[in-house]
Amino acid sequence: MQQCENANTIKWPDNIIVCEVGPRDGLQNEKVLLPVEQKIELIERAAQAGAKIIEIGSFVHPKAVPQMADTDEVAKRISRVDGVEYRALVMNLRGLERAEAAGIRKAKLTASASRTHSLANINKTPEEVVRGFAKCAEYAAVHGLELSGAVSTSFGCSLEGQVDFGQVLSVLRCFHEIGVRELSLSDTTGMANPQQVYEYCMKVQAEFPDVTWVLHFHNTRGMGLANVMAGMLAGVKRYDACFAGLGGCPFAPGASGNIATEDLLHMCQEMRIATGYDLDKIISLGHYIRKIIGHDTDSFVLKAGKNSDIVKQK
Ligand code: ZN
Repeated sequence: MQQCENANTIKWPDNIIVCEVGPRDGLQNEKVLLPVEQKIELIERAAQAGAKIIEIGSFVHPKAVPQMADTDEVAKRISRVDGVEYRALVMNLRGLERAEAAGIRKAKLTASASRTHSLANINKTPEEVVRGFAKCAEYAAVHGLELSGAVSTSFGCSLEGQVDFGQVLSVLRCFHEIGVRELSLSDTTGMANPQQVYEYCMKVQAEFPDVTWVLHFHNTRGMGLANVMAGMLAGVKRYDACFAGLGGCPFAPGASGNIATEDLLHMCQEMRIATGYDLDKIISLGHYIRKIIGHDTDSFVLKAGKNSDIVKQK
C-alpha cells in the first residue's frame, strides 16, 4: 500500500518533445558517407513519422567533418513539412551565413564545459568560445534567425573527468549574456547519472527561468533513458535522440551512441507520455538505417521489438 500512495506523488509529464539529431550527431560518426538523396530521404521520413525538430546536419569546414560536407545541398533540397523545425549546427558566423543561405532558420552553437577539452580541441577557453559567438547572435537578431546553445561535456569529460558544475554555469551565463534563450546540457561522453541530471536541471532552471532547456544524452554506459526520466521529473520537456541509436563523438574517445529515438518513444508510449510520433514508422526507419549503414546499432527496440508486439503474439 505504501507504494501505491507514493505513486500518486510522482508527476510525470503528459508530453515531451523528442528532437531527432540522427542526420547530424548520428551520421557524422559513421564511416560510410551517405549520398545527399539518402540523407534527404532519412530527414523526410523522420518528419513524416512525426519529428517536430530535426537536426539536419552541420555547417562546418568539410575537412573537419567530411560526413557533413553536403549539408548545404541537403538543406536546400529537403521538402519541408509545416510546423517542423529544421535546425543545424554551426561553429561561427561563416557557418551561420551558409545555413541561412540554405534556408535554415535555427542554428545550434556548441561550447564545451570542460576547459581541458576546449583548450585541447580549439585552443580557446569555453568562455572565449561563447563570447566569439556574439557576432552570430547579432547576425541572428538582424536576420530573424533563432539560436540554440549547447554545452557539451556538461556532466563529465573524458580528458578532465568530473567537470565542476560552476564551470557549466559559467558557460551557460556566457550564452545567456549574448542573448541565447534555448540551452542544452549535453552528455557528450555518456558520464551523466540520474541524480546529477535532476540536480543540474533544478539548479539551471532556477538560475535561468527565461530559458527553454534541452537535454542531450549518450547511452555509453547504459544510463541514457534513466537520465531522461530524471530530466522529466525535474520538468524538462525537450530531449535529443537519434534514429537507430547511431552517434558518438569523434572528439570524445569511447563515447558512443545517442539514446535511440525508438527506445525513448517506446518508453514514452508505455508510460502514456505523448510525443506526437508514429512509433512504427520510426522503428521501420531504424531498420532501414541499419541496412544502409551496414552494421548493428545500439537500439534495444530494433532488436527486441515493442512490448505490444509480444502481447499480440500470445
Ligand atoms: Zn551528441
